[in-house]
Amino acid sequence: MGDYTVKKDISEMSLAFVGAGKMAQAMAKGFLAAGVVKADHITATAPSCRSQPTLEDIGCQFTHNNKEAVENSDIIFLSVKPHILPGVLQEIAPVVTKRHLMVSVAAGVPLQFLEEKLPPKSRVMRVMPNTPCVVRQGASVYVPGSHVEKEDSEIIKSLLSSLGYCSESNEGMISAVTGLAGSGPAYMIQKRGFCSDTYKDPVYVAIGLGGMGQAYAFTAIDALADGGVKMGLPRELSIKLAAQTLLGASKMVLETGKHPMQLKDDVCSPGGTTIYAIHKLESGGFRNLLIDAVEGACLRAEAIA
Ligand code: NAD
Repeated sequence: MGDYTVKKDISEMSLAFVGAGKMAQAMAKGFLAAGVVKADHITATAPSCRSQPTLEDIGCQFTHNNKEAVENSDIIFLSVKPHILPGVLQEIAPVVTKRHLMVSVAAGVPLQFLEEKLPPKSRVMRVMPNTPCVVRQGASVYVPGSHVEKEDSEIIKSLLSSLGYCSESNEGMISAVTGLAGSGPAYMIQKRGFCSDTYKDPVYVAIGLGGMGQAYAFTAIDALADGGVKMGLPRELSIKLAAQTLLGASKMVLETGKHPMQLKDDVCSPGGTTIYAIHKLESGGFRNLLIDAVEGACLRAEAIA
């Protein structure tokens, strides 16, 4: 580890995203929208040029060279897929110094593993964000590693707070947070309304979909929070993550103009945590239940009119 003086001011810092995919782009866009980091202070890397236009459109730098990106940056977000991460750590370890705050967003890769693969005393953190960071309604938790300083946690807290709700957590909880908030937008985006052609009166349909929708949403928040509690999260954190996830997913639908299923597909990696959760939802008839709920409220509104 060299004698580099660690910067304290976020606006002076350079950020690198090693892995320029969906999560990296959501975070980079969120940071720029929040104005906490300048675009020319962000570099993203990927082996192919697939993400290059998107990143260049928002003014970031793009490179294929992971080591160069690390060498030129202060905070390094490790945003490759978990199975790619070991190889990336081996590749960049020789250039990681005291200057670097290494922040992994990878699901399921423990701090101990990250610390072992990087030089001794590296400043390492884990963060579990979600894609609504792009509309600054994300829900994130961060977990400091063994050699992280108080200022590092403060910096990450400020950065993540600019992307929505954020809270410090401990590593024992991070898988539950992944299941609730990290993958959560896909469940929420999945939960769209449907109205049958049979019930054409827009007032009744609006009652079924919009009016009662709040009750469905409250129930969904409560059920997601129960899931978080079941998997070990404190109730208060679990409710906040669930509510923020619903808010963030809704804002993504309204602001991006993308179809909800496109947004759902965006967060379902092949073999990843989210598609497993979606399978559970489909097995339980999640969409059918919501369609039935809208229809039931609509019919009842007509019946009592
Ligand atoms: P993604 O497939 O969209 O992005 C991964 C990126 O890494 C791609 O741009 C790919 O080209 C790049 N890449 C592959 N090999 C590389 C290498 N050797 N060096 C540099 N870049 C390389 O995946 P994603 O959804 O953005 O997920 C990235 C990480 O974020 C994962 O570890 C995941 O667990 C975590 N995460 C994702 C979400 C989500 O909703 N997408 C939520 C929380 C955490």
